[in-house]
Amino acid sequence: MKKTTIGIVGYGNLGKGVEVGLKHSVDLELVGIFTRRQPDQLETSSPVYHIDKLVDFKDTIDVLILCGGSQKDIPTQAPKMAELFNTVDTYDNHNEIPTHFEKLDKVARNNNTTAVLSTGWDPGLFSLNRLFAEAILPKGNTYTFWGPGLSQGHSDAVRRVEGVKHAVQYTVPKQEQVDAVKNKKSLDYNKQDAHKRVVFLVLDENADEKKVRESISTMPDYFYGYETEITIIDQATFDRDHTGMPHGGTVMRQGKTTDENTAVYQFGLDLDSNPEFTAAVTIAYARAAGKLAKEKQYGAKTVFDIAPSYLSPKDPKELRKELL
Ligand code: NDP
Repeated sequence: MKKTTIGIVGYGNLGKGVEVGLKHSVDLELVGIFTRRQPDQLETSSPVYHIDKLVDFKDTIDVLILCGGSQKDIPTQAPKMAELFNTVDTYDNHNEIPTHFEKLDKVARNNNTTAVLSTGWDPGLFSLNRLFAEAILPKGNTYTFWGPGLSQGHSDAVRRVEGVKHAVQYTVPKQEQVDAVKNKKSLDYNKQDAHKRVVFLVLDENADEKKVRESISTMPDYFYGYETEITIIDQATFDRDHTGMPHGGTVMRQGKTTDENTAVYQFGLDLDSNPEFTAAVTIAYARAAGKLAKEKQYGAKTVFDIAPSYLSPKDPKELRKELL
């Protein structure tokens, strides 16, 4: 069987995760990595090309996996690339997903391509599980707890505080709230009260510790209003304990099947590497994009629109026998 050919656009954490993850997929084959930087700047043994060369691969690449950042790269890159290629992205700006969908849908339908958007785990697998849980238990409440895990946005924000040399921020769900939902107790949930922000940082030599602590805990949008724990550590501890990118979380729904009986639906992830797992989900959706395009199912698709069997390299007959 001919393998589905893949191009990676953008070589950051996610792009590297896709490169590694493709090695586990027997039916997918990496053609090349496309970057805005000079190709020889990238440390990899895979073929690397400047992004301007992408058009030359129009007939050799079945699906492009877009690994740029959600804030600046995907909104411009995705609609442009969907003119020529089938695409998959991990766009995670939840409020803007409907707009991203509309734009991509128009481009993809006009050009007979398939554009799968907002894959990954949240949005992605968590979204699917919120949908399953709500459809199955219409009378109830859904809760999402993020972490424990490293938030890149919050870590960056702490790094920008004067006097901070290195920093990481972990988002930690409050266990008593997670347990309350699990134990079928009612919970007055809001995102801010349900999570704690835990910061580890290395200070610059002459930093004013009190000022640093205050700047962090009063930072609007990021920390203000959250329970925030700040620990100062030395460089060696930072290098030893805080250079990974773990994440995860849980989607839960408490629902009533009758007035007397409650059901708790739970889906959880515990990830040593957020980008590697996000990449793994995206690879499965790239496979789906290839199949959908072959069937001429063009336009934008989210995880809600794609049947699960499209994600698997196995054929439906095999799946029915082995996994149903
Ligand atoms: P990075 O910041 O590591 O990479 C983003 C882009 O920046 C790359 O594609 C690359 O483009 C460029 N870049 C990377 N490293 C360098 C460098 N050293 N110098 C110059 N440019 C560089 O982002 P991530 O890969 O960590 O994340 C990508 C997106 O994935 C995030 O924005 C997030 O929205 C999304 N995501 C989604 C999740 C989900 O569950 N849906 C979960 C986790 C992340 P180029 O090669 O062209 O220079």
